[in-house]
Amino acid sequence: MSDKYDVIVIGAGPGGYVAAIKAAQLGLKTACIESWTDKEGKNRLGGTCLNVGCIPSKALLEISHKYEEASHGFADQGIIAKDVKMDIGKMMERKEGIVNQLTGGIGGLFKANGVTPIYGHGKLMANRKVEVTDKDGKTKTYEADNVIIATGSKPIQIPPAPFDGEHIVDSEGALEFTEVPKRLGVIGAGIIGLELGSVWARLGAEVTVLEAVDTFLPAIDQQVAKDALKQFQKQGLNIVLGARMTGAEVKRKLVNVTYEDAKGKQEAKFDKLIVAVGRRPYTDNLLSEDSGVQMDERGFIFVDDTCKTEAPGVWAVGDVVRGPMLAHKASEEGVMVAERIAGHKPQVNYDCIPNVVYTFPEVAWVGKTEEQLKAEGEEYNVGTFPFAANGRAMAANSATGMVKIIADAKTDRILGFHVVGPQASEIVAQGVIAMEFGSSAEDLALTCFAHPTLSESVHEAALGVAGGAIHIANRKKKK
Ligand code: FAD
Ligand code: AMP
Repeated sequence: MSDKYDVIVIGAGPGGYVAAIKAAQLGLKTACIESWTDKEGKNRLGGTCLNVGCIPSKALLEISHKYEEASHGFADQGIIAKDVKMDIGKMMERKEGIVNQLTGGIGGLFKANGVTPIYGHGKLMANRKVEVTDKDGKTKTYEADNVIIATGSKPIQIPPAPFDGEHIVDSEGALEFTEVPKRLGVIGAGIIGLELGSVWARLGAEVTVLEAVDTFLPAIDQQVAKDALKQFQKQGLNIVLGARMTGAEVKRKLVNVTYEDAKGKQEAKFDKLIVAVGRRPYTDNLLSEDSGVQMDERGFIFVDDTCKTEAPGVWAVGDVVRGPMLAHKASEEGVMVAERIAGHKPQVNYDCIPNVVYTFPEVAWVGKTEEQLKAEGEEYNVGTFPFAANGRAMAANSATGMVKIIADAKTDRILGFHVVGPQASEIVAQGVIAMEFGSSAEDLALTCFAHPTLSESVHEAALGVAGGAIHIANRKKKK
């Protein structure tokens, strides 16, 4: 096989592997370079998402949710579940099984689509040459007409709390505890911190989340964020806002954490500490000095809105470039770039990328928050509907949270769609589709929804935008 390709992708996460498959489907001779190896040194495709991110975290969230329901939530429903116990080893085995199946599946997809996997660390040189160093240190150089960088991100390590892999861990370590910690500290109330904190709290850990900022989930619509915070606190998650962690020291198997809040210096002791303060773009030893690719001031690879870098024929997608660090955003960009290389002109609609926090209740949203619209001086109408008034949610013992739809006051076009509640991650897709199609709230209000479904709350919220909800008293809210 010649070492010259139409497209070389560096990184086989959801940005890279999707770009490679799409490029091959479009008739381009494509290779994908990946350096990830598992504990036994075997090559693994799938990146952060499949190996240590979205998929394993959701496996643990699903299992721990079932355990919690069986332990505490069944009695109300007349189900007597005695002596419910958790086998952590079995849970981890199941999580690993799912990860193995899916990462192996990418290899199958590469084969089926004619993508050549190349295992090793890729470094971009001048003129789209890529030098690959394999596990044994051997190097080989490949070249391509187009190179797509999709090297993803790594957890941020902060000086006060260096990871030791045992007591102070990152999100990867938090997916691998062999027993439930008695007292668990989480630094950072972002999506990852809340999800991992929820897993171990459901399994019995006493969880404290320390968050530097005073506002809970500041990027989220605050009506929704406040509702979620109330629910999390009810579940026993101790979320301390305005608490900036200043130090962590391991002594006699305990992590002694110091932090500062409005009252001054504080201390806490934990058996394990998860540091989830964000992720950084991963570009270690990726670019030769003459690669021509530029970074922005935060270390992300600099790209335009079509993911083109400053170097001709070099593109970058996913967590390594600006924008939300989400698997589906990475994949959207990967498809766009492959299509552009093939001569088409698609665009990612960055206004329609959904976000989800997979806690219980789940929190999901797309588009603008009320806070953003107020700051922009926009006129809007709001419709909300609580799951407490939704028959299906009641039947499912999960009547908590709400759907909130925000529409332009003049055009009625949907500007924001927010859900806190059961299956919010699924329900938000309705908002994404509506917004992609440029729907008005009235379009949704005139749509027939099956009864009884959680989605009827979407219908009612849409009706509520014009003050016409049926199953709740209307409080037409105008700015
Ligand atoms: P990555 O998935 O990080 O893949 C990059 C790949 O490139 C890696 O396999 C890496 O080994 C490889 N690589 C890097 N440098 C080189 C090199 N020089 N040579 C060869 N290979 C290289 N997102 C969601 O959308 N939904 C979720 O529910 C969700 N949950 C998450 C939970 C956790 C705990 C974490 C940590 C993340 C989660 N994310 C979630 C974020 C999601 O995992 C990332 O946004 C996504 O993986 C980014 O995809 P990517 O392709 O840009 O990078
Ligand atoms: P995200 O960027 O969504 O992953 O969330 C990370 C969270 O960690 C943010 O809400 C930050 O405010 C928070 N954070 C960062 N550094 C600290 C710190 N030293 N102590 C407490 N919280 C922090």
